[in-house]
Amino acid sequence: MPDQPRSQDPRRSVPRTDALLAEPPVRAAEQRLGRALVKSAVTGVQDRIRAGELTPDDALTAVLDALPPTASSLRPVLNATGVLVHTNLGRAPLSPAAVEAIIAAAGTTDVEIDLATGRRGPRGEAAIGALLDAVPAAEAAIVVNNCAAALSLVATAFGQGRELVLARGELVEIGDGFRIPELLESTGARLREVGTTNRVTAEDYRRALGPDTGAVLKVHPSNFVVRGFTRAVEVDELAGALAGTGVPLVADVGSGLIRAHPLLPEEPDLQSTLAMGADLVLSSGDKLLGGPQAGLVLGRADLVQRLRRHPLYRALRVDKTTLAALEATLRGPLPPVQQMLAAEPSGLRARADAVAGRLTAAGIDAHVVDAPARVGGGGAPEHPLAGVAISLPAGFAEPLRRGARPVVGYLEDGRTLLNMRSLAPADDDALADAVLEVGRRWT
Ligand SMILES: *Cc1c(COP(=O)(O)O)cnc(C)c1O
Repeated sequence: MPDQPRSQDPRRSVPRTDALLAEPPVRAAEQRLGRALVKSAVTGVQDRIRAGELTPDDALTAVLDALPPTASSLRPVLNATGVLVHTNLGRAPLSPAAVEAIIAAAGTTDVEIDLATGRRGPRGEAAIGALLDAVPAAEAAIVVNNCAAALSLVATAFGQGRELVLARGELVEIGDGFRIPELLESTGARLREVGTTNRVTAEDYRRALGPDTGAVLKVHPSNFVVRGFTRAVEVDELAGALAGTGVPLVADVGSGLIRAHPLLPEEPDLQSTLAMGADLVLSSGDKLLGGPQAGLVLGRADLVQRLRRHPLYRALRVDKTTLAALEATLRGPLPPVQQMLAAEPSGLRARADAVAGRLTAAGIDAHVVDAPARVGGGGAPEHPLAGVAISLPAGFAEPLRRGARPVVGYLEDGRTLLNMRSLAPADDDALADAVLEVGRRWT
């Protein structure tokens, strides 16, 4: 066969796939990321060489640049929304102690074995112990996948084929189309609604009780308030009204505050709600508790035991990494969400001044403004928290979101605001770097 004429066109000399895959740094990446992701980066670079966008000499560098940082496409994002617990951003950021605990438990671990005897042990005992230490009013606890799972377990175990009594004003939608009454009815429980949208009395509850009553439910309306001519029955009054009836009172408090918080006077907490007479309390693990996604059920030992024995529990229970993170959140140092809640406005301002100083020194139009923050995750809608933000030109919002280290802020009055209250102080430098990077690309 005659020799092919040697082409000058770089597209003719696209490096072969096996040659690129054999390059030591590419092989190292394959160990970390797996063959499919690495091969797709190689193919993408070959296409760009064929299209004349790259020269063959750049192939190796381009492949390494095109590799994703991890085998998961989820990326860390700086939360500058001012919403402490942002559902779209994965709610509570975990504490370093919780992250460490997850890594330690990620392999094979003693989640369900007693290493001293070699026998099977109770699952998640240490996390449950941490919960009971944090909430002394509870006799027992279990952990399920999220608060919605806790509600469906309770509704199934106590309400299936029976009646769950709850106030009309608490038939709420929590977010993203998640409606509490629909979830409850999907378990086969019948809802016995009492009161009106704005008013309910203890007598309304009492009149609704009958032989079919499975439980009385109190659901914290979380993300909305009714104002004006209103009346609700608080847990202590309701517990009094139910005394002697044998009907369990279950309170879904939502946010998972362990104890009452001075900044959030209307947010119910686990300890006080039990102390006021609820038989069970339910909450999320990844809202104000600041831990992993989980649904916590705490309260009377006999009721918790009924839930644990129910076949549905097996379908809702959490994995070893959640148990590890929950225990570390409860036993370890204050998790980020609670630090953000505790942040002093003067400290926030000092941090914002430092970041803004770096930006203005680089010629960026940045200044510091007061900007309210919020708890988020449905918590405390009426209680904005004091916050401080870096104000930038509106055009920064999108490139910040699309940058190498994405930053999510918000637009207000024609400016991009980056609120410091939802950011960990350890991320301030990364925030400034991300803004500087956008500024550089613009000038
Ligand atoms: C957020 C919330 C839920 C849902 O919790 P998930 O953990 O997201 O399932 C249920 N009830 C209340 C009152 C809430 O605030």
